[in-house]
Amino acid sequence: MRVTRVRLFALRQELRHSFETSSHRKSGIEHLLVEVTDEDGRCGWGEIATPSDPYFGAETTATAWDIATRYLVPALLGAEGDEPAELEATWARVRGHEFARAGFSGAVWDLFSRRRGIALATALGGTRDEVVAGVSLGIEPSIDELLSQVELQRAAGYPRVKLKIAPGWDVEPVRAVRDAHPDLDLHVDANGAYPDDDDSAAVFAQLDTQGLTMIEQPFAPRELVAHAALQARIGTAVCLDESVVALGDLRTMIRLRAGRILNIKVSRMGGLTVAKAAHDLAVEAGIPVWCGGMHEFGVGRAANVAISALPGFLLPSDVSGSDKYYVDDIVAPAVTAVEGRVQVPHGPGIGHDVLVERIERGASRTYDSADVAVRDAAFTRG
Ligand code: MG
Repeated sequence: MRVTRVRLFALRQELRHSFETSSHRKSGIEHLLVEVTDEDGRCGWGEIATPSDPYFGAETTATAWDIATRYLVPALLGAEGDEPAELEATWARVRGHEFARAGFSGAVWDLFSRRRGIALATALGGTRDEVVAGVSLGIEPSIDELLSQVELQRAAGYPRVKLKIAPGWDVEPVRAVRDAHPDLDLHVDANGAYPDDDDSAAVFAQLDTQGLTMIEQPFAPRELVAHAALQARIGTAVCLDESVVALGDLRTMIRLRAGRILNIKVSRMGGLTVAKAAHDLAVEAGIPVWCGGMHEFGVGRAANVAISALPGFLLPSDVSGSDKYYVDDIVAPAVTAVEGRVQVPHGPGIGHDVLVERIERGASRTYDSADVAVRDAAFTRG
């Protein structure tokens, strides 16, 4: 396949229910969509699901746009390859910027599997027909509101609920949810908000008694040693998210025993090829994985469903239905969860039609390689 055209769209969607984590609160989300076209006019779609602010990681929507237009498009345009990895190799010199790279990786994988007429999940080596979905609840204004949100999601059939925690919003809300739902598959995510000190140790000792499936990313991303020390002290599994952006980080996690569960976010790791490699490495090390979300629209969400079909994804993934988050979606049919399960589509590529006109109409910013002198970009072939 040869990539003959690349288009980018910046699109904002309003959230049904505003979402707060340890670092920020938001009511709408802007992501970038990547469309690649091959020499036969076939298209593949990917999503750059970076938050707009640099609070989850270093990237923002603005940095992703810049890296995409100045480096990734010029690298990919005109490139030829039989496998997605060959096309991804064209931007191998770009360091960091995993979210931006992941959007392009998704588009290339979608195109590849559509050309073959197979489902993306099949192309990736998926073996499941359905994926168990969990939901993630933000920091709510009160414990009562949190309890009603948990009630709502359980009633919708989701078997696992994840709670965002932060210093000052941890033991008390977790206990309240646990008391109300003694048998719920419950886990907490701190997004690295805790310092490695005695106060935090006391919090985690109390959370350790709450029957949690995991405590996700308690400390800052590079604190692998602190995570290892905590994992040695508590019975609850520590799960790493922000700490693992490359396969080398995963090797460090395994060697240090810095956690017993891995959250594989396709966006955080730079795309589907590396996410699949991380899955294989984790399986070899006996580490169960699950797929975390970044409030993806339908394109990115469908790719998350596809990778969650791999055999090592043994825990519920953040692939709940789009309707939980957004009023409209950009794919048809929308990604839906029934009784907490999402069917893995059998159709080619991501298995959903991309609503191109809706994207074109709603985009606040567009880029088309057919309209610009791509050779003027900063990228040079090495
Ligand atoms: Mg997380």
